[in-house]
Amino acid sequence: MKIIKNFSPNCDRKKRTINSIKVIVIHYTGMQSERESIERLVSPSSKVSSHYLISRKGRVFNLVQDRFVAWHAGKSCWGKHKNLNENSIGIELVNKGHKFGYTSFKKKQISSLIMLCKKLIKKYKISKKNIVGHSDIAPLRKIDPGEKFPWKYLAKNKVGIWYDHEPNFLKKYRRTKILIKKDKKKFIKNLDKIGYCFSVKNKSFFVKTINAFQRHFRKELINGIFDQECFMIAQNLAKKL
Ligand SMILES: [Zn+2]
Repeated sequence: MKIIKNFSPNCDRKKRTINSIKVIVIHYTGMQSERESIERLVSPSSKVSSHYLISRKGRVFNLVQDRFVAWHAGKSCWGKHKNLNENSIGIELVNKGHKFGYTSFKKKQISSLIMLCKKLIKKYKISKKNIVGHSDIAPLRKIDPGEKFPWKYLAKNKVGIWYDHEPNFLKKYRRTKILIKKDKKKFIKNLDKIGYCFSVKNKSFFVKTINAFQRHFRKELINGIFDQECFMIAQNLAKKL
């Protein structure tokens, strides 16, 4: 695959080890245009960057070399990783985002993303559960790449995880309350197993985490309340891990 190099100064000077690369974090740019997005990610004053950017037409830009820490994740956590910049590769997808007119991702853009992810997964032995969105690792601050991002399609192509239940079967359990205390506990345990970092005691943090989970795995209803459908999805996902 063709990769266009356009290096950004916004990264740590020191090289990291190959073994520290464990996670792929997917973002959207959330800006008006592709040009504006690239300019920001390579401008020294912005202090932000990502390793890759993929245009609407599927062109792949390499902005920071994999071996350097790019500045894309901010305060974040996933599984045992507490600062994702150190342990991840960041990929930005050009999309105006929720602020400027959130639209579906383009087919060519997603094909390029899958190709790039496959290459990275193989090279750094990245585990399936560690293909995440920015919202998954920073649910208090972020909602990108958003509910239009095709996680299921990626998983079908062996990038990321998905559950086995039929959507029509699951749908019947949407908005059904979880009444059994044991199941509530199980759901929380499963969220943790999947990789989410949260505290049940911090109510708003917990609600935002449920939002992130739903945005990723149950985009039809993002309401911060875990119902029977969420429970079954998490249970199925956790079983595979
Ligand atoms: Zn982001």
